[in-house]
Amino acid sequence: MLYKVLDKDPYKDFIKTLISKYEFIGPKKKDRSVHDFVTIKNISELDTNYMRTTIPPAKKLLFPPDEELVTYEIEKKIEVRPMVESSEKILFGISAWDINGMNFLDRVFTTDFIDENYISKRKKLIVIGMDIEPTETNFSMSMGAEYAKDGFDIYLTELKDKYFIRVATARGNKIVEKYAKIRDASSEDFKKYNKFMDNYRKKFKMSADINSFYYDFESIYDNGDFWKRVAKNCYSCGSCNLVCPTCFCFNVKDDIEINLKSGSKSREWDSCMIPEYGLVAGGHNFRPDKENRLKQRYRCKLKTFLDKFGKYACVGCGRCIEACLAKINIAEDINSVKKEVSV
Ligand code: SF4
Ligand code: SF4
Repeated sequence: MLYKVLDKDPYKDFIKTLISKYEFIGPKKKDRSVHDFVTIKNISELDTNYMRTTIPPAKKLLFPPDEELVTYEIEKKIEVRPMVESSEKILFGISAWDINGMNFLDRVFTTDFIDENYISKRKKLIVIGMDIEPTETNFSMSMGAEYAKDGFDIYLTELKDKYFIRVATARGNKIVEKYAKIRDASSEDFKKYNKFMDNYRKKFKMSADINSFYYDFESIYDNGDFWKRVAKNCYSCGSCNLVCPTCFCFNVKDDIEINLKSGSKSREWDSCMIPEYGLVAGGHNFRPDKENRLKQRYRCKLKTFLDKFGKYACVGCGRCIEACLAKINIAEDINSVKKEVSV
């Protein structure tokens, strides 16, 4: 890791140059409280002073909601063409918890099976992270995701009169060396950066007591009344999955032309919270009850991937809490599990 500093005035020139040289995806204000990551053509459109994006930016780019995987022709012989699309772009202004969410997806799409569609896009994505203001539902601190150790090329922390820059890759170094008027960070810069981070960490107001969840969850697993209470208001809408930076379940569907000679296969996001998720041929449903679906979602996020990758499948971004019309709150539920077990 290299540590550099960029003053505020040359920062603007740096961003303008990146916008002119690359396809540049960054946060733009959508309405009063929500931003969206879109292609930025002019620096005036960019607004890094954001708190909320409904859809996680890295997931939107690397694992889009609907993606064509192959097209095929059935004539004398069957011809299958993989649809792998990728081009170099910059993803600018992504938060630490969303970088950690992307790091989780990197593991998912390269473990057991290399997903070419995902990985070809990922390799060409230049990631420039930033410390973003947490919303009141953000509990990333509890999940150890408020700080990104890796997964980015460049990471900017805005101090009073300058940016403290962490450069994690040779590609990132090439960019800052070529386009930014940087200097090496001094011990004074480090002091200011550490002070900033101490104060930054105090901004995370929501917390989840996750430490004993792994074992507490097993003690409460068969307590049907508890899970009925937790899931009582759930509408089984699936919004919590769709907005989650780490949810990766998808469905593959066939679209066949009416002449039955050509078609395509595409994938679209799926949700473990909707009743159809557990429905199989013959009409049997493995998880017909909403309380069992919610329990399984929590197990997947907070236990299964701890065993598989040594990481939670939750970075504490709080999006599912904000998206849930039934006000189901994963952080509060983690705390409720602990409380219920200690009674
Ligand atoms: S927990 Fe909330 S967002 Fe998720 S399926 Fe239930 S109602 Fe929908
Ligand atoms: S489960 Fe909720 S809080 Fe955790 S990463 Fe997903 S959307 Fe964010």
